[in-house]
Amino acid sequence: MKKNSIDKCSFCGLSKNEVELLIGGVDGFICESCVDQAHEIVHKQPESTANFDVNKIKLLRPIEIKKFLDKYVIGQDDAKKVLSVAVYNHYKRILQEKEFSNGDEVEIEKSNIILVGETGTGKTLLARTIAKMLNVPFTIVDATVLTEAGYVGEDVESLLTRLLQAANYDVKAAERGIVFIDEIDKIARKSDNPSITRDVSGEGVQQGLLKLLEGSKVNVPPQGGRKHPDQKMIEVDTKNILFIAGGAFDGIDKKIARRLNTKVVGYAASKSLEKIDTSNFLQYIAPQDLKSFGLIPEIIGRLPGLTYLNPLDKQALRNILTEPVNSIIKQYKKLFNMDKIELTFDEDVYDYIVEKTMEYKIGARGLRAICEEVMLDAMYNLPSDKTAKEFRVTLEYAKEKLELSTKITRLRVA
Ligand code: ADP
Repeated sequence: MKKNSIDKCSFCGLSKNEVELLIGGVDGFICESCVDQAHEIVHKQPESTANFDVNKIKLLRPIEIKKFLDKYVIGQDDAKKVLSVAVYNHYKRILQEKEFSNGDEVEIEKSNIILVGETGTGKTLLARTIAKMLNVPFTIVDATVLTEAGYVGEDVESLLTRLLQAANYDVKAAERGIVFIDEIDKIARKSDNPSITRDVSGEGVQQGLLKLLEGSKVNVPPQGGRKHPDQKMIEVDTKNILFIAGGAFDGIDKKIARRLNTKVVGYAASKSLEKIDTSNFLQYIAPQDLKSFGLIPEIIGRLPGLTYLNPLDKQALRNILTEPVNSIIKQYKKLFNMDKIELTFDEDVYDYIVEKTMEYKIGARGLRAICEEVMLDAMYNLPSDKTAKEFRVTLEYAKEKLELSTKITRLRVA
C-alpha cells in the first residue's frame, strides 16, 4: 500500500493518529477496533438458529400451557385441553433425543390435531398462541389453494416451503415447527358428485397431505411453486412437525344430530336424548362424522386429536373485547396512550358493540370491524389536536359513528 500522510481506516474513517493500530491492505486500511467488530460478526450465530434454539425451550406442563392459552383465548376449554396435552407431548418428542432417551424402543408418536368450529371462534388464534409460546417456526396454510400434483394451484409440499421460510430456511428448526392447515373441510371428498372424473381439489389433495401428516422425508422446493426438474430441493423430515388442521365443517352438526338420533332410537331412547345438549351438537363430534363429511379415513387417523370450538355467545364476545392480554380495547387504549391521550369507554358501549357483532354472524372478527368504524374519526383527528388529553367513548357517540358508517352497511348486505 502506498504510504501517504492521510492514512485512515477504510471502515470507520479514523486516521492513523486516532487509533492504536492501523493495518494496511492492498487497497486500504483497517484499525484494531474494526478488526474486533468484524471478528464478532463472522463468529456470531446465524440468526435463524439462534431464534429457534431447542435448548431454549422450557418444558411447560399441560395445566401451565392451558393457563398460557387462557391469557389470549377466551373460553374453548375442551379445545385448549386437547391442544395442551398434544403440545406437551410435542415438547417431549422434540426433547426426547436429549433428555428422554433411555435406550428403549418406545418412540413417542405425534398427535396431530383437528379443530372443528365455526369461523371466527379462535381456531387460528389457538394455533398462533401455541406457536408463540413454543417459539418454534409457525405457518398458516389455506387448504383451498392446494391441488393434486399436475393441476393448477399449489402442490401440498408448498406448505413445507412456507414453514421453511418461517424458519429462515433453518431445516432443523422447521422440522420442529407447527403448521396450521386452515379450511381442511374444503378439501372434503365431494361424495355426492360422482360424475366428476377427477376430484382435483378433494381426495387427491387429501392423499397428498397424508404423506406429510404421517411423517416422511419430503423434497421441498425452496421457493415454492411447482416442482421443477432443475430446481434444487431441500429435504424436510415431517416426523416431528405438529400439524393442526382447522375447519368450519358447515352442516356437520346435522350429521352429528342424525347419528345421535339413530343411535338413541330404539331402547331407552327417551332417556339418552334427555342427556344430549341439543343446543350445541359439535361437542359430540366423532371421527365418523368427519368421514361422512368427506374426509378419507386415513387422514382422520392421522389427526387423532379431534376437538371442537364453541360458537361465541354474547358473554364470550364481551370478554374477547376486553379480557385477553392484547384485547382489542387494550390495543386502542395503547394507541391513544402513545399520543398521551387517555381513552375510556362507557360500559354500555361494549354491550352495544357485542350486539352489533352478533348481527353479522362472523364471529369475533366482527368486533374488530365494528370497533374500527367507531374509532376511525377519533383516530384521525385527535393526534393533531394539541389540547386533547382524554377521550371518552359514550354510547351515543358509538351509535352515531356506526350509523353513519357505509362500510358496516356493506357488511350487512354481504
Ligand atoms: P378462526 O376460528 O376462523 O380461525 P380466528 O382464530 O382467526 O378464527 O379468530 C378471528 C379473530 O377473532 C382473532 O384474531 C381474535 O382476535 C378473535 N377471536 C376469535 N375467537 C376468540 C377467542 N375465543 N378468544 C379471543 N379472541 C378470539
